Amino acid sequence: DGSSGGTVARPLPGPPAAAALLADAAARAARLASPPHLSIVRLGEDPASVSYVRGKDRKAREVGLHSTVYALPEDTSQADLLALVARLNADPDVNGILVQLPLPAHVSEQAVLHAIDPRKDVDGFHPVNVGELWAGRPVLAPCTPAGIMYMLGHYSIPVAGARAVIVGRSHIVGRPLAAMLLNAHATVTVAHSRTPDLGAVTREADLLFAAVGRVHLVTPDMVKPGATVVDVGINRVVGADGKAHLTGDVHPDVAAVAGALTPVPGGVGPLTIAQLLANTVTAAERQAAARL
Ligand code: NDP
Repeated sequence: DGSSGGTVARPLPGPPAAAALLADAAARAARLASPPHLSIVRLGEDPASVSYVRGKDRKAREVGLHSTVYALPEDTSQADLLALVARLNADPDVNGILVQLPLPAHVSEQAVLHAIDPRKDVDGFHPVNVGELWAGRPVLAPCTPAGIMYMLGHYSIPVAGARAVIVGRSHIVGRPLAAMLLNAHATVTVAHSRTPDLGAVTREADLLFAAVGRVHLVTPDMVKPGATVVDVGINRVVGADGKAHLTGDVHPDVAAVAGALTPVPGGVGPLTIAQLLANTVTAAERQAAARL
């Protein structure tokens, strides 16, 4: 509509940043005595989980990691799942363990996440790793926010001293991202569904992160001109053509106000798997060093 003077935000595509992170992980993996080994466990046939696990397994092999997938029946008991986790914990040939979420209702996610050896916890969800992250000593940290931080570095977006606002406080994205931004010396605000006048909060942001899961929640009036906007949302919508496609939490018109903007799809999405493999290499490096 011309209100922004016709500027268009610099696009921040994920694939080049993901490729750089993967190349770095592959080079580090090649320096180890044997390829890092990731074990991925899933229960049931939830289509999204099946597809995420397939993507993680395929990419792991592509970059020269060893990957094993345990596809267990939906009705696997919590005791049997915990027994498998215990076996993987004890296996010196396994460097990383990932249990794909969500789990069926009869299994406690918390019980499973607590059971994974923190040294093999490549998703970074074990309370020891959550605590180390918040203490400013991250070792294995959640993949989506860690991938976002890598991407900001890749595109030389300054973080130290910036006003950062995150919309969303999940354990997977919002909370760990807040810890990472704080560790990187941003001034951090976390907004959520009980935040009154969300726009007044988001307009303060030099760095604005939308991790909500609501189609186009962030509109141009909520964005400070020139801000960097990172759209973490992945929402399935049916377009005018009747076909399903993916869209983010940020309205496309934000491109006329923001200084830089991540697209959906093709934005932060590819960084998550790349960071998972980087975490697996980190776990393998530390286990190798501990055995010396
Ligand atoms: P959750 O549903 O766990 O969390 C959503 C958060 O958004 C909650 O903190 C909620 O607040 C907040 N929220 C909901 N509605 C509003 C609102 N109207 N205004 C302000 N805040 C609101 O989602 P996730 O963090 O798991 O995922 C968020 C999005 O990111 C999803 O679209 C998901 O698909 C995507 N995602 C993408 C990944 C990737 O790119 N690889 C990985 C993980 C997620 P409250 O806490 O008060 O309920």
